Amino acid sequence: YDDEFDAIVVGAGPAGSASALTMADAGLDVIMIERGAYPGAKNVFGGVLYTPTIRELTDIDDAPLERYVGEKRFGMLSPEDETAVSVKPNQWHQEPHNDSYTVLRGDFDEWFAEQAVEAGATLITETTVTDLIREDDGQIVGVDTDRPEGELRAPVVVLAEGGNSLVAEGADLKDPSPREDVAVAVKEVIEFPGDGNEIEDRFRLTEDSGVSYHYFGEGAVGDAFGGAFMYTNDDTVSIGLAYRIEDAVTSQPKPEQTLNEFKSHPAVAPLVRGGRTVEYSAKTIPEGGADAMPDLVHDGAVLVGDTAGLVLNNGVHLEGTNMAVESGYHAGNAIITAMANDRTDANALLEYPRNLEESFVVQNLERYEWLMETAVEDKDLLFRDLPRAIADASEEYFSIDRDPKAEHADEAKDRILQTIGGWSGAAKLAWRYRKVM
Ligand code: FAD
Repeated sequence: YDDEFDAIVVGAGPAGSASALTMADAGLDVIMIERGAYPGAKNVFGGVLYTPTIRELTDIDDAPLERYVGEKRFGMLSPEDETAVSVKPNQWHQEPHNDSYTVLRGDFDEWFAEQAVEAGATLITETTVTDLIREDDGQIVGVDTDRPEGELRAPVVVLAEGGNSLVAEGADLKDPSPREDVAVAVKEVIEFPGDGNEIEDRFRLTEDSGVSYHYFGEGAVGDAFGGAFMYTNDDTVSIGLAYRIEDAVTSQPKPEQTLNEFKSHPAVAPLVRGGRTVEYSAKTIPEGGADAMPDLVHDGAVLVGDTAGLVLNNGVHLEGTNMAVESGYHAGNAIITAMANDRTDANALLEYPRNLEESFVVQNLERYEWLMETAVEDKDLLFRDLPRAIADASEEYFSIDRDPKAEHADEAKDRILQTIGGWSGAAKLAWRYRKVM
């Protein structure tokens, strides 16, 4: 290949491939540079891919999807007990399955990058971008790589290198994230011996359906602020947890130890019993929300996906792939416009942040910004005391003996009220979290 392109994309994750596909579809000469042996080789995530924007960009009929999510379950874990809510709308069993599918990133990212290549983009793998090239006036005009004579030039560079964004930080396009804005995550993929129907039997599933289980409370991540997850693939289970890096360096045992404790929780152990860990990975998640978003456009460069901090992780939602793809799509379109006008300075690329702000990406980040800040302040109550009280109260409420039910109900109610500071405490809590609904 030539060393001059219309656009260079650093990283072939969901954000990078979405931007490359968008631009290649419009006829731009795009190159994606990926450090892994193939796209997705090094990529870690929990397990659910949200596909509305991907569907807009390409046909997903032949995408390597594992299972559609037919059930979402939220489990509050005290050290020994679980109180859970399960959501199973029948509609999710019909196409398009609420656009939520479990995937293995090694398979999916490779397939998605291939869509960009089929649209005309070039992909080079096993190549790491080490720096950006600038003109004297500061305009970014290309990248340097770890290959001999590895410079490539283009009027615009898309930084889609994920959360660990060494190139963007090294070039002063963003500051390193402060500790409180980063979570550490560990994940295992577990395989089960058996007749091939192990996942269906364990989770009571029909052929293609799967589950997304989220857990919080002491039984999930100890004293840390975060949560755990479990997702079903075709033949394996993805299980892991994430919590603030601040907790990882202070009080909490190591993440792998916390994961082992979670896996042996009485509510979790039967689901993974007899399994063998076939993959183990660790990664950080940017969780700073809308406030922590860096400038998205620079002279000759745009930041997309995790590099731009676009992840929503609040216990109920763990979404990043959809935001990555949406940002890649808007960035790609803004670059198409800018190239048509023969200008790629920051002002010429502003269509990207404008469209992203109007999209679900920034709106969702802004909506839940306060939740994370408020929940951190109430950490002990929400993640330790209340799960314990709810577990005790549920046990009390449903206990069968020769006492009248009214006595059990009163006792159960008192346990909760004691924990949250009586009826006035309950009212304050409801007011504080009114925006959740
Ligand atoms: P990435 O997926 O990180 O891709 C970046 C790419 O750039 C990689 O291929 C990398 O190899 C490459 N790269 C990096 N540096 C260079 C370089 N210098 N040169 C060349 N190539 C480079 N999101 C969901 O939607 N659902 C989930 O269930 C979910 N669970 C998660 C669980 C965990 C444990 C974690 C860590 C994240 C989870 N996320 C989830 C978030 C999601 O993984 C990310 O938001 C998403 O992967 C971001 O995509 P991206 O393309 O921006 O970055």
